[in-house]
Amino acid sequence: MQLSNRLENLQPPATIAMTQKAREYKAQGKDVISLSIGEPDFDTPDFIKEAAKKAIDENYSHYPPVAGFPELKEAIIRKFKRDNNFEYKPSQIVVSTGAKQSIYNTFQCILSDGDEVIIPTPYWVTYADIVEISGGKPVFVQTTVESKFKASVEMLEKAISPKTKALIFSSPNNPSGCVYSKEELHEIAKFAQKHDLIIVSDEIYEHIVYGEKMTSIASFPEAYDRTVTINGLSKAFAMTGWRIGYIGAPEKIAKACDTLQSQVTSGANSIAQRAAITALDADLSEIQYMIDAFEKRRSLMMKWVEEIEVFKMPEPEGAFYIFPDVSATFGKTYKGKLVQNADDLSMLILDEAYVSTVSGSAFGMDNCLRISYAASEEQLNEAMRRIKELLA
Ligand code: PMP
Repeated sequence: MQLSNRLENLQPPATIAMTQKAREYKAQGKDVISLSIGEPDFDTPDFIKEAAKKAIDENYSHYPPVAGFPELKEAIIRKFKRDNNFEYKPSQIVVSTGAKQSIYNTFQCILSDGDEVIIPTPYWVTYADIVEISGGKPVFVQTTVESKFKASVEMLEKAISPKTKALIFSSPNNPSGCVYSKEELHEIAKFAQKHDLIIVSDEIYEHIVYGEKMTSIASFPEAYDRTVTINGLSKAFAMTGWRIGYIGAPEKIAKACDTLQSQVTSGANSIAQRAAITALDADLSEIQYMIDAFEKRRSLMMKWVEEIEVFKMPEPEGAFYIFPDVSATFGKTYKGKLVQNADDLSMLILDEAYVSTVSGSAFGMDNCLRISYAASEEQLNEAMRRIKELLA
């Protein structure tokens, strides 16, 4: 049986593959510490769960409007105004089944075959695959530890071709935790305007920042009319399983995403949408306890990074990952196993220390390793102790 040639190169994300292998070890009774997955270890806050229970009792059991309940769109508009300093109309908002689907919808709607999309590395695993499934071609821009994993306009300029259609990045960044400054984003906004690019700005980690509040690129006049702002409730509200994401976008793109979605999912889960209204309207102080915990864990992880000689990295400013350069381990042998690249190292750490991580190759940077710190301090300390011992 021949499957579609569109899917020839499609693989499950490495994050999911690694999580699966860790599960197998767990099933064998091994004490596995899972630091490979990109989700908060917190449960959804009670006030959001209560809103969902109420929605069930109020019989929100019918098909919702394809692009989202009007009340949810209004809550999203209030959120954009409150946190990001720009305004959208309801016709510019589309609610989907997670930010992942929002990104998928966007690229399906904006790309024609052969269009190029600039993706600074390291990037979230799924971007390149979605671009390819949508007929586009990812064009990677390599950043470095020295550039704090950020792409400058000089680096981006080199990737421009007559076929460049769009640019996608996340800030705060998964996997590196870097956060672009206001000035850096303004330069990128001007760059996008100069080359007439669509900007896809993935802001899912927006609230998980440890310094200054992040800036949304659509807040710059040069960017507003050409930016699709991606966001969702998975990370800051600990709602990964509820599957709610959304875009704010130029009307033409939002309308196309609405039409596409009407033929694919008919819209996001109605109960989760009602709960999302309560979440988005809540004062941000309601979720601060999770961000405080992540910040504390970040300090703890940085202490370990200092102790593990073969790990080199700048301090992350957002999200909940460390992303050390581990190239100092390449060519060395640990427990009789030769490490030649980050894939080998990630597998070694799982096989010998029972800690799951993700090789940087999954994010387009094969000299690095992603370790999530969305786990308890006790688990983090134990995991890092095992890694330190293994790599000593
Ligand atoms: N963007 C980034 C950068 C992410 O890390 C993730 C989740 N790992 C997503 C988007 C997708 O989020 P959602 O759960 O809303 O689909």
